[in-house]
Amino acid sequence: MAHPLPPTIPRTTDEYAQRPGPAPYRRIATEEAWMTPELFHAYRELLARRPADEPGFISMWGRFIDLGGVLLDRLLDVDAMRIADMDAAGIDVQLLLLTAPGVQVFAADTAIALAADSNDQLAAAIRRHPTRLAGLAAIAPQDPVAAARELERAVTRLGLKGAVINSHTKGEYLDDPRFWVIFEAAEALDVPIYIHPRTPAPAMLQPFLQRGMDRALMGFGVEVALHTLAIITSGAFDRFPRLKIVIGHAGEGLPYWLYRLDYMQQHNRAKFMPELRHLPSDYLRENIYVTNSGVPWAPAITLAQSVLGVDRVLYAMDYPYQYQPCEVAMVDALPLDDADKRRFFQGNAERLFRL
Ligand code: CA
Repeated sequence: MAHPLPPTIPRTTDEYAQRPGPAPYRRIATEEAWMTPELFHAYRELLARRPADEPGFISMWGRFIDLGGVLLDRLLDVDAMRIADMDAAGIDVQLLLLTAPGVQVFAADTAIALAADSNDQLAAAIRRHPTRLAGLAAIAPQDPVAAARELERAVTRLGLKGAVINSHTKGEYLDDPRFWVIFEAAEALDVPIYIHPRTPAPAMLQPFLQRGMDRALMGFGVEVALHTLAIITSGAFDRFPRLKIVIGHAGEGLPYWLYRLDYMQQHNRAKFMPELRHLPSDYLRENIYVTNSGVPWAPAITLAQSVLGVDRVLYAMDYPYQYQPCEVAMVDALPLDDADKRRFFQGNAERLFRL
């Protein structure tokens, strides 16, 4: 007999109206988006020029830019509106990440300036709401040395907790050693780098774009899974064994693939791939943390916990893109004991991001 399916997405108005109750843990949401007015205007200007090397950006932000309305209001607000939404959903703390694709679509000098300005604005918002907000720095991988320097400034002078990189930069991935000065800085500062999705690189975008799957319906997940696995198979973690990378969406499918990744890396590895000191699953357990952003679903979260460990999986909502207070109640109901639930919502985030 088939095993009954566990509860899935809400279907009825009553289910969507559910609200979380008080909890014996702090709910720390760790992949929450925001943007500055300056970034918004820079996106608008760039879109007007229809940049030929950024077809994924045109697809994603071409839709949002003239949308107006509550989604943009929420992205741009780091004060009363955001705090009220957090209160309504029972979220105690948000870790803010400059929204995708961050500054990675611009020329290096523009990107460096926008990243520094957004980090200054983020630090000011955190000073206004020190018990409710924390954040990761935006950096511009277009200039890896400047990016490493900005990460250091953001952590040591602004109190930010690491950096977000919105996957590929102009079609390039962080497995390229020219970016490893960023890894070196993150390891030395002992802060994580969050690899957040964006639309796939131009070289693999078209089959997704033609089917409307270039964004969160699969394209984002494929892009970040590739990126993470590229970093693992490049040997970057052998070079930087204390480097910590965070990925969202319950691990972008990688926990599900763990057995096959190890098997194929041992038995069917491409000749040009470097030898690794450990198995892919070892790096996923030692160097990678996952959040459940956008995936408030027990089967995916418990799979990630069972194959990576309960200390590696953190709570996230994906505000404002997936702001559904009923989903907090769904995650509160995870089949975990009290200690593991506290790790998931609070303890793992406090430790990883030193909150
Ligand atoms: Ca997100």
